[in-house]
Amino acid sequence: MKYISTRGQAPELTFEEAMLTGLARDGGLYVPETWPTLSVDEIAGFAGQKYEDVAFAVMKPFIGDTFSDAEFREILAKSYASFEHDARCPLVQLDENHFLLELFHGPTLAFKDVAMQLIGQMFEVALKRRGETVTIVGATSGDTGSAAMEAFKGLDAVNLFIMYPHGRVSDVQRLQMTTPSESNVHALAVDGDFDTCQALLKDMFNDFEFRDGVKLAGVNSINWARVLAQVVYYFTSAVALGAPHRKVSFTVPTGNFGDIFAGYVAKRMGLPIDRLVIATNQNDILHRTMESGDHAKTGVTPSISPSMDIQVSSNFERLVFDLYDREGLAVAQLFDALKTDGNFALSQGALGKLRDEFDSGRCSEGETSATIKSMAARTGEILCPHSAVGVKVANEHRDGATPMITLATAHPAKFPAAVKDACGIHPELPPRMADLFDRDERFTRVDGTLDAVTKLIKDRIGA
Ligand SMILES: *Cc1c(COP(=O)(O)O)cnc(C)c1O
Repeated sequence: MKYISTRGQAPELTFEEAMLTGLARDGGLYVPETWPTLSVDEIAGFAGQKYEDVAFAVMKPFIGDTFSDAEFREILAKSYASFEHDARCPLVQLDENHFLLELFHGPTLAFKDVAMQLIGQMFEVALKRRGETVTIVGATSGDTGSAAMEAFKGLDAVNLFIMYPHGRVSDVQRLQMTTPSESNVHALAVDGDFDTCQALLKDMFNDFEFRDGVKLAGVNSINWARVLAQVVYYFTSAVALGAPHRKVSFTVPTGNFGDIFAGYVAKRMGLPIDRLVIATNQNDILHRTMESGDHAKTGVTPSISPSMDIQVSSNFERLVFDLYDREGLAVAQLFDALKTDGNFALSQGALGKLRDEFDSGRCSEGETSATIKSMAARTGEILCPHSAVGVKVANEHRDGATPMITLATAHPAKFPAAVKDACGIHPELPPRMADLFDRDERFTRVDGTLDAVTKLIKDRIGA
């Protein structure tokens, strides 16, 4: 399988190259040149299989011979051994025909672990074979950073720098980033919001002297390997509820559009998904795009679901590429306009296709709290605020016939203040991280400018 850029001007890469590179050199994102499909029989055969075995079958067409079968099975085994639930991503029933897909049983309690644990192992195997080291820089609204720290700490071939918006992540998120003591991982508290961090990261990738000088690699959800790892749980959960012999729908709490794009990929591969519902908090650029066709940035308003406080949904570009029949030039023009003018308008044709595949809804702060409260009372399930956004929007899009699966993206204990305020219950951290608040913190404050951050990184790695 070859990988091509959504802007059409970067060289084609293999899976391994695309994984190690992150952002394409023309500013685009890598996507597979075709969508491989699985037959109805192959999908039906996933019923009752182990998560790791389904993962192998779903990802194999995309990774080709990057790893031998034995190597890839070992990578999968190591990646998911760190999960505290044997099912890895279990389903819980909330109501008639409404199910919660719990994606938070990994080491940092958010769904980011599902992909990050895997790419940590894949990077290690690939880099060792090449005899190379890389500098990974990531931007995070909280959960990506902690998941990356956990996945890459202590690896020889990787220096990891995580930029997070100073003062805008939860205590648990911050502690998970600032307490690992391994010397190859660095937490950078940036003055700015998440979009500042994400823009800095994009600028670093477009600064070729820096990029080549430090051998920059990216593990944000712009990294194709991350999206790919998330495709797997759409299959395992849908099959558990009767796919491919009946359709299911999904509602996904959405920020950077990585997780829900993985659902779109599963559908392209042949999984019979009826609706894919985008759930946003008050930072609702995607919901507004669905309503009007105008993809327009406004400021970010901090919310109680901070991992979705995003206005520039990077992975949306991958979908736009398909909506424009994979015309790289058209995509480049739209995203240049987004950068210079702050918005672009989808063509009528593209908007029609978007609405054919997706629905959307928005959840206010009050509705988020009310949903946490009512679900605790009616089912005993304590939702994190992001998952609550999903459940509220899912309830507006459910019908009696098609099972709805809402993705639960984080453990409630990652956001204890918001949960306690909403339902009066303080969600406890799992025992393995009960001492988190007693561990020593280590981080560096840095200005939100390209010069400040690149200088700091070069100093640290001696480049
Ligand atoms: C990252 C994150 C999201 C948003 O996922 P995207 O792939 O960016 O759309 C939602 N909830 C939680 C808890 C997250 O960490």
